[in-house]
Amino acid sequence: MNKEKPLISVEEATSVILSEVEDFGIEEVFFHQALGRVLKEDIKADRKMPPFDRVSMDGIALNYAVFEAGKRQFNIEGVQAAGREQLTLIKPDNCLEAMTGAMLPLGTDAVIPYELISIENNIAKVNIDSIKYFQNIHKQGIDRKKNETLISRNSKLSSAEIGVLATVGKTKVKVAKLPSIAIISTGDELVEVDQVPQAYQIRKSNVHSLVTLLSGSGLHADSYHLPDDKATLKQKIKTYLEAYDVLMFSGAVSKGKFDYLPEILDELDVKKLFHKVQQRPGKPFWFGKKGKTTVFAYPGNPVSTYVSCLKYFFPWLNSSLKMKTEPHDFAVLDKDFIFKPELTYFLQVKLKNEMGLIVASPIAGNGSGDLANLAQNDAFLELPSNRSKFNKGEVFPIIHYRF
Ligand code: AMP
Ligand code: MG
Repeated sequence: MNKEKPLISVEEATSVILSEVEDFGIEEVFFHQALGRVLKEDIKADRKMPPFDRVSMDGIALNYAVFEAGKRQFNIEGVQAAGREQLTLIKPDNCLEAMTGAMLPLGTDAVIPYELISIENNIAKVNIDSIKYFQNIHKQGIDRKKNETLISRNSKLSSAEIGVLATVGKTKVKVAKLPSIAIISTGDELVEVDQVPQAYQIRKSNVHSLVTLLSGSGLHADSYHLPDDKATLKQKIKTYLEAYDVLMFSGAVSKGKFDYLPEILDELDVKKLFHKVQQRPGKPFWFGKKGKTTVFAYPGNPVSTYVSCLKYFFPWLNSSLKMKTEPHDFAVLDKDFIFKPELTYFLQVKLKNEMGLIVASPIAGNGSGDLANLAQNDAFLELPSNRSKFNKGEVFPIIHYRF
C-alpha cells in the first residue's frame, strides 16, 4: 500500500530550519548603510557622556553657596557660549551668562534659566528664592562612562543606533554580511507584469511580492522565472545552486503533473530535510540544503508563498545573523473562529489597537489563491493544529507583514 509519511508539524519544521543556519561572515560598511543591519562589534563610548558638565538651559551660571547665603543680584562677567572654551568665574559673587550646550564655567555649580531672572544694566536679578545644587547641568559622564558599551554586538541597528554611532565617531561599522538570494518562480501560465495575459494565463505576482518583502527588510534578491520544463529547470537550478546562498522557489512542489521541483532538486543532490508541513496555507512546502546553499521551495499559491516566507525564511535569516530579536507579538481574537483540519492555520486578520491591546479581526478570504485578500489585511494569526475552535478573547501569535 502506498501510505504517505505523516507530515511534520510547523514546530518541527521550524526547528529543522533553525538548525540549518549559516554564517555569511562580517563586512565593514559606512554607518548610514548600517541601518537595519546586525552589528558585529560592541560600540563603546569614546569619551564620557556627556563629555563635560553641559549647561542644559540658557540662563546664568553662578555659585550655589553664594546664592544660598542670600545673594540675589549678580554682576554679569561675560557669556559662556556653546562651542567655546571653558570660562572661569573670576569673582564668586558674580555670574556668567551661559548657553545650552556650553561647558559649565569653572567656579559655577548651578544654572538659573532666563525665564526666572531679569537683567538690567548688566546685573542679573534672580526672581526665585530656592535653587538646587547643580541644577540645569547635565553632569559629565552621568549618561555613560568612557569605554562603556553603548550598543552591543548582534543588535539590529535602527536610526536610534545610527545617532549613537555618529556621536562616538564610528564612520565605519562591522555588520553581518547578508546572503545572496535568488527568487525563482515557475509555471507556464505566468506572464510578465507588463503583458496582457491570454485567457489561460495570469501575471506573475509572487516574485514581486517576495522581492519587495525582502527589499523592505534591506535584502537584495535576484529573480528568475523558469518554465515547467524538466531539462530547463535542471540546467538553470544547477547554476543557481552554485551562485547563491539562498534559493527561494515558488511553485512546482505539489502533486501536479508538472510539479517537477522535488524530483529535480533530488537529482541535483539537494538534501531534502522535509517536504510538506501540517499547515494551511502552504502545506507542500519543501526545504533542503546543498553544501552551504539553503533551499526554501514554497508552493505557488500566492498566500502560501507569502506566509511561508514570513514564517520560515525570516526567522532562519535572523538566527543565521545571530540577531537579537524581540519577543513575539500576540493579538486578541475579536470573534470566534472555527478551523477543523488538523493543521496549523495562518489566519488572515486585520489589526487594530484598542487601548494598547492588539485586536485581530479575521478576514479569511477564499483560500491560498486569494491574494487580493492580503491587501485587505495586516497580518496572519498562527492558530495551533491541535484544536478547531478559537474563541473570542484568546490571544495568538502574530506574523506581521506591514512593517
Ligand atoms: P503550483 O504550486 O505551481 O501548483 O501553483 C499553484 C498556484 O499558484 C497556481 O494556480 C499558479 O498559477 C499560482 N502561481 C504559481 N506561481 C505563481 C506566481 N509566481 N505568481 C502568481 N501565481 C502563481
Ligand atoms: Mg506550477
